Amino acid sequence: MTDQAQLAERPDTFRSISAATGEAEGLEFAVHGPADVDAACAAAAEAFDAYRATDAETRARFLERIGEEIAAIGDPLIEAAMRESGLPRARLEGERGRTIGQLKLFADVVRAGAWRGLRIDTAMPDRQPLPRPDLRLRMVPLGPVAVFGASNFPLAFSTAGGDTASALAAGCPVVVKGHPAHPATGELVAGAIRAAVAASGLPEGVFGHLTGPGNDLGTALVQDPRIAAVGFTGSRGGGLALLKLAQARPVPIPVYAEMSSINPVVLMPEALKARGSALGTAFVGSLTMGAGQFCTNPGLVLAIEGEGLDSFIAAAREALVKAPAATMLTGGIHAAYSQGVESLASHDRVETIARGEVGQGVAQCQAGLFAVDAATFLADHALGHEVFGASSLLVRCRDEAELIRVLRAAEGQLTATIQMDAADTDAATRLVPVLELKAGRVLVNGWPTGVEVAHAMVHGGPFPSTSDGRTTSVGSLAIDRFLRPVSYQNLPAELLPPELHDGGQGGAPLLLDGKPV
Ligand code: NAP
Repeated sequence: MTDQAQLAERPDTFRSISAATGEAEGLEFAVHGPADVDAACAAAAEAFDAYRATDAETRARFLERIGEEIAAIGDPLIEAAMRESGLPRARLEGERGRTIGQLKLFADVVRAGAWRGLRIDTAMPDRQPLPRPDLRLRMVPLGPVAVFGASNFPLAFSTAGGDTASALAAGCPVVVKGHPAHPATGELVAGAIRAAVAASGLPEGVFGHLTGPGNDLGTALVQDPRIAAVGFTGSRGGGLALLKLAQARPVPIPVYAEMSSINPVVLMPEALKARGSALGTAFVGSLTMGAGQFCTNPGLVLAIEGEGLDSFIAAAREALVKAPAATMLTGGIHAAYSQGVESLASHDRVETIARGEVGQGVAQCQAGLFAVDAATFLADHALGHEVFGASSLLVRCRDEAELIRVLRAAEGQLTATIQMDAADTDAATRLVPVLELKAGRVLVNGWPTGVEVAHAMVHGGPFPSTSDGRTTSVGSLAIDRFLRPVSYQNLPAELLPPELHDGGQGGAPLLLDGKPV
């Protein structure tokens, strides 16, 4: 059956599922089909010219207004997200603050104007042997962007999350494919964005929201010829499927997929000697936070054998056996976690160091810490795959050379952390050049890893942590994903965009004949 035929045969509605009970709730949401995909993409394409022509202040105010509308929803948003994700109130309130803060950050970015990438090389009519033309460059938005909301951040990486905020900031209309695990949360946020669109006097097509479970909806969206780029956070399988679809289109488009990462943590020998036990306890806090459902969860720990490592293991074991089970986001994520943990536990060369408490409810994550020697890890590629949830694998290394071999063999990562003391500095200096080729972010002494929404943040990394390691999905640099450079050669002033007129930059940075002004 074709994707179109599958879409046409779907039921009209689906229900929100409570993460805690696994039961469908009363709320029903539309299962969108081909006509909805077509309408959302047509409206986005139609809105593109008007939206990209908006001045910086209008666009920045629009982003801020989305944040205000989200805040105005109040508690019903937090309650919906709690029901649908099983995540606790404090975490979701923090995530709401981060979502609004992210929109404000992009409003500031739009106003500051560095994203425009303005450059002017003035004409040199008398240059020999040939004159130099007048060249003026700016960044332009790509066009409508399809955004796939993440299950594990129902606010900050979802409907109005980082992908949406950065695409809107770039001047691209957005069509969101809401995550089926949180339709009520998604619909509330979509309503806030629609209200901000209306209040800002923008065309409705600047934002579209499609709902419904099943790969066929996302497939139709990525295949729509009016979509110019894709932002995604989720599984490796899902991200790769969308990448394939995007590359197979008559006009291929970029896919910025954040997929799987196990975020190695290296425990340095002197730090282990001085505070192995404290490191073990802190590690378990980071591992089990939010049932381990963070893209930067420490899923791989590396250390050189010794007394310090023994203290680390003893403290981690003690903390982990007392770690309460926690509800996972969906039954599917719980099933994948259980399968991943089972394959570690049943591996004949993997030792189970400890398991957390067994939960009573449905989809409960029982934390797990496992250990393996470096030679086995190096020989079995599957041991380096992500087990999404509170599971981690400790790799015991004989010496620094073996530890570096393991790091070099590991897949691409979002983060790589060094836990060190001052006495480890020499050895750590040898690790940084290895880690910077493996990860988008190298950290020292970070528990939990966290992701700051900031200008110097990279939340990206080599494959498979993302499908394109040259960029980031968090922080102001994320706007670049949805822009491309255009050079205007010898255009008379009347044909040039205003920001490329002499003195027309309105405070945005300019590179004039190679020099910043
Ligand atoms: P997912 O299954 O990849 O789904 C994410 C989104 O992509 C959903 O909207 C899904 O919609 C859509 N999708 C997935 N595969 C697709 C395909 N082949 N074609 C078209 N659309 C597709 O991710 P998830 O549901 O959030 O969680 C599943 C697993 O993803 C987890 O167990 C974990 O391994 C991983 N995950 C990783 C991270 C991370 O940050 N590293 C975060 C979240 C999840 P439909 O299901 O409606 O098709």
